[in-house]
Amino acid sequence: MKTEVKVSTKQKRISNILEETGRLIIAGPCSAESQEQVIETAKALAADGRVHYLRAGIWKPRTSPGSFEGVGTIGFKWLNMAKAITGLPVATEVGSERHVYEALKHGVDMLWIGARTVSNPFTIQEIADAIRGVDIPIMVKNPLSPDINLWEGAINRFARAGVSQLGAVHRGFTLSGESILRNNPSWNIPQLLQERMPELPIICDPSHIAGKNHLVSPIAQRAMEMGFNGLMVEVHPNPQQALSDAAQQLTPLSFANMLNRLISEPGYSNPDELLSELRLEIDLIDDELIRAIANRMNLVKHIAEAKKLSNTDVIQPSRWESILQRIGQLASDQGLRPSFVRKLFNSIHKESCAFQQDQILQSAVK
Ligand code: PEP
Ligand code: MN
Repeated sequence: MKTEVKVSTKQKRISNILEETGRLIIAGPCSAESQEQVIETAKALAADGRVHYLRAGIWKPRTSPGSFEGVGTIGFKWLNMAKAITGLPVATEVGSERHVYEALKHGVDMLWIGARTVSNPFTIQEIADAIRGVDIPIMVKNPLSPDINLWEGAINRFARAGVSQLGAVHRGFTLSGESILRNNPSWNIPQLLQERMPELPIICDPSHIAGKNHLVSPIAQRAMEMGFNGLMVEVHPNPQQALSDAAQQLTPLSFANMLNRLISEPGYSNPDELLSELRLEIDLIDDELIRAIANRMNLVKHIAEAKKLSNTDVIQPSRWESILQRIGQLASDQGLRPSFVRKLFNSIHKESCAFQQDQILQSAVK
């Protein structure tokens, strides 16, 4: 059955896309869910005209069992229909040798390696061996932990397998607790990767960093400001109904609006978006500061007990002196004024001593 006009799907190399447009844009749903959903998204993205690849997860590596784990190989049929209708090349995630064979058999145009998979060098090697000899672009996401060597190592395994079109995707790193963002952007890590691999295109996935749709745009803005080579964004025709990552997916319209604001003109920057992103990062760091201080106070509770058992005074001037010295050195290594850090720590120390005195008094009363 002939439905719509076929568009030529002759693929451009990533380096040509970057040369021509200055950025690589990959967009599409977190997961392929149905034929209608894939085709509707593809049509909207193709009509936008700024998207180079349609993404959709066919197999979803979920943290907890029981979550939606993807539709499996039936999804390739939908991706291929979307490609035939719109001309958009398609990309999916592979997490095993079998996934690679299935994806290649179904003519997928680009593969990406998810954060959970990148954390396992055995799997990465297995995937790299399966890809050897095939000229397909591979995008390697960062691992869950902020371990640049693990990320670089995975990229090198693909380079050694002869993959000539390689890119990295920065999707943020696991945070230690609930926070304003889903993942910590730790921008210094992709920056360091770029210093180590100056030729490597690195794009940003603001969706998985943000975790919430209204935070995607400021993260994307920051990435553009920092000179990332493009974006991978989750776009779903009906985000609230999405079977995975519902909170962070954009509608095609809000995605287009975001691109208008962020990248319609090269070098254009939106100061309001940038300010909101910088504030997000400040909030994230403040959350971490509070958590770190709370952890410190919890330890102080144990210290109070230990001091009581060993009949040691709460205030130990020599210990305090050595803390101040160590902290002062660290502060000046980090470009902080020692007088400010001393004030900050004096205040923490005062609270900690008061806390210990209270603990000791309370246990004396019992
Ligand atoms: C995804 O892209 O939907 C995905 C699972 O991403 P990540 O591997 O970054 O968590
Ligand atoms: Mn997702």
